[in-house]
Amino acid sequence: MTIIDGKLISAQVKQELKIEVEKQKADGGKIPHLAAILVGDNGASETYVASKIRSCEEIGFKSTLIRRDSSTTEEEVLEIIQQLNEDDDVDGFIVQLPLPAHINVDKVIEAIEPRKDVDGFHPINIGRMAKGLPAYISATPFGVLELIKRYNIETAGKHCVVVGRSQIVGLPMSILMQRNTYPGNCTVSLVHSKTTNLAEITQQADILVAALGKPEFITADMVKEGAVVIDVGLTRVVDTTKKSGFALKGDVKFDEVAPKCSYITPVPGGVGLMTVAALMYNTLLSARKEIYK
Ligand code: NAP
Repeated sequence: MTIIDGKLISAQVKQELKIEVEKQKADGGKIPHLAAILVGDNGASETYVASKIRSCEEIGFKSTLIRRDSSTTEEEVLEIIQQLNEDDDVDGFIVQLPLPAHINVDKVIEAIEPRKDVDGFHPINIGRMAKGLPAYISATPFGVLELIKRYNIETAGKHCVVVGRSQIVGLPMSILMQRNTYPGNCTVSLVHSKTTNLAEITQQADILVAALGKPEFITADMVKEGAVVIDVGLTRVVDTTKKSGFALKGDVKFDEVAPKCSYITPVPGGVGLMTVAALMYNTLLSARKEIYK
């Protein structure tokens, strides 16, 4: 059994990006610029955004953080988006989710210029990805693909079961794993909360991607011997032994599932770190106009 080291791979990806940016700077090219909009005071969101900004600094990207409190109106958020859409120095930007309940997420995402949508959440990018056209691929699925690639995990002809159908993780993951490319060419099953025989399906998975947000939901009896298990789940649970007062839990009961696997991602130290690295990668692609000419 191999534990997939997201910390190592994300550090490698970031190092590669840093070298690219240095080269670009030396050639007089533009320094990639990522902006992030953070609305409200969700603790997890604060941590994620801080880690994105820190990664920009490490790699040598320019970054801008736009913070607004939870009383900010939808119109105000749309205005900020408009400004970022028009700002030629900003290559890409993200709106950190979740947004306060009074703001319509779909409206906000659709307001983002697809060419700057480095999170890959805009319907145009999702549609282009589904058609196999150049597109920004959502950072989390992109990070998972990179882990699969860098561990040379075989995917063609395998049965990939994705648990969860969210637009930012499960759905794009399922589309990407069936594409006629590597990683891909899987037979894909997408299961969700209305699936009646979930365990029966997960037991057939050669590659199991858990993205449902239910800590330790996937137990050993739901996993086939030798499976590749990718745990996207990231839930904060109360843990008084930790200084922060919480611990991060994945969707997989790691201790009992790991011995059955050929490969498994841990939480923390797996997919989460790759998500940030993938976002940085998308920002570089945007600065180089590689997706949209
Ligand atoms: P989400 O929008 O809440 O979607 C969860 C999906 O799981 C839904 O499709 C839901 O089904 C399904 N589901 C919920 N309970 C289920 C059950 N008991 N059995 C089967 N399916 C069930 O969540 P998300 O945004 O995709 O995130 C999923 C997890 O990944 C969360 O823990 C999140 O924190 C984590 N995440 C991690 C990263 C990272 O960087 N590592 C990035 C994004 C998300 P229905 O559609 O039927 O409701």
